[in-house]
Amino acid sequence: MTNESWVGKNNYVTWIEPLKLSLLQDGVARFEVPTIFFGDWVQRNYADHIRTQLSSAGTQVDRVEFSVGAVAAPRIQAERPAPRAARTRTVSDDDLPGAPLDQRFTFDSFVVGKPNELAHAAARRVAEGGPVTFNPLFLYGGVGLGKTHLMHAIAHDLQISRPDLRVLYLSAEQFMYRFVQALRERQIMDFKELFRSVDVLMVDDVQFIAGKDSTQEEFFHTFNALVDQNKQIVISADRAPGEIKDLEERIKSRLQCGLVVDLHPTDYELRLGILQQKVEHYRAQYSGLVLADGVLEFLAHRITTNVRVLEGALTRLFAFASLVGREITLDLAQDCLADILRSSDRKLTIEEIQRKVAEHYNIRLSDMIGPKRLRNIARPRQVAMYLSKQLTPRSLPEIGRRFGGRDHTTIMHGVRKIEELMAGDSQLADDLQLLRRLLQG
Ligand code: ADP
Ligand code: MG
Repeated sequence: MTNESWVGKNNYVTWIEPLKLSLLQDGVARFEVPTIFFGDWVQRNYADHIRTQLSSAGTQVDRVEFSVGAVAAPRIQAERPAPRAARTRTVSDDDLPGAPLDQRFTFDSFVVGKPNELAHAAARRVAEGGPVTFNPLFLYGGVGLGKTHLMHAIAHDLQISRPDLRVLYLSAEQFMYRFVQALRERQIMDFKELFRSVDVLMVDDVQFIAGKDSTQEEFFHTFNALVDQNKQIVISADRAPGEIKDLEERIKSRLQCGLVVDLHPTDYELRLGILQQKVEHYRAQYSGLVLADGVLEFLAHRITTNVRVLEGALTRLFAFASLVGREITLDLAQDCLADILRSSDRKLTIEEIQRKVAEHYNIRLSDMIGPKRLRNIARPRQVAMYLSKQLTPRSLPEIGRRFGGRDHTTIMHGVRKIEELMAGDSQLADDLQLLRRLLQG
């Protein structure tokens, strides 16, 4: 199954690629999977898709089965060292609910630039496996900025530097799935023991558990138990702890106790660096392809949404050029990537503007839409209104709606106010120039 579009690239790499077809007979397709958990998950989520895919490829399949086999799946869960095996109940590998690691997500392949240097340095520190200095490490940022990549890189490195540690990486969704399963099967004690027995716990996309009350509760207890034992925790989310809606206050405040690091949107240099690194990689795969000057610069300039899209564009470009046997020129890039280039043109959202402005003036994102009238909050809010009008195609009423349902006249007033002030206030003019540059990349 090579076409990944039906599940999305990430799911494809995580769940489908590791499957090994071991039997195809009498309408039964059997796949080998690395763990029971893995098999369960794929059965629940993808079995139907897999059946359809096989059928549409001409193989009639009535049933898809999964059996735990000898697949050399990327494993992070290291065996416990000898003295620890003396516990009353040893947890076997199959019980470990970690998600497989992507072998490509290493520190070596992570390009460091200004927007991610702090996150990278913190991840490196955790990967050394030394004494815990900040707990948790909380990584946040928009989609495709490298959170998952860094977490996998930590796991890979720890495997080598500290094979004695039990490292568990999973998404918050998988955490919930395991929890619900344990409840259903009345194995909650096993569940608790399992999660409390790891040395390093990494939970990806924790915003997922917002609003899911009992999962949150359990997560909170697991979190506290591990912190009390001085075990390292690494968490990622798409926004800062305080900005996650429907997450309990006590969890927010625990999450803020460690080191909270922001992966900023990429800048031009970082994007170019990532493209250059990818091209090195492709050169081996597509030997003989000629890449014209200026193409990478063009892509780094134009595709500013996220790294995943950037990578996808390059992959498509190389595949296309090699199929048609042409040199990769600017013209070819424009043709072949027209849809991506078009959609990244309208990239800037009011939400991003609000976030950047709030960050710049050190106020809360929620104050952007809230009612406070204090000058030190109202002014940044007006700046955000002004920039929303300038940098997005949104109308005043639309902007008003995104600023907590304000009237369009309020927005107009805000925009005018900033225009007026800018003329005499050089600090404000500088701020605006900086913000504009940050937002437009
Ligand atoms: P997130 O989890 O933040 O949504 P990912 O970690 O899945 O993002 O990254 C999306 C894609 O972009 C991955 O293929 C990842 O390897 C790549 N990527 C992101 N940042 C970098 C970087 N700094 N250097 C190299 N690749 C990167
Ligand atoms: Mg991710």
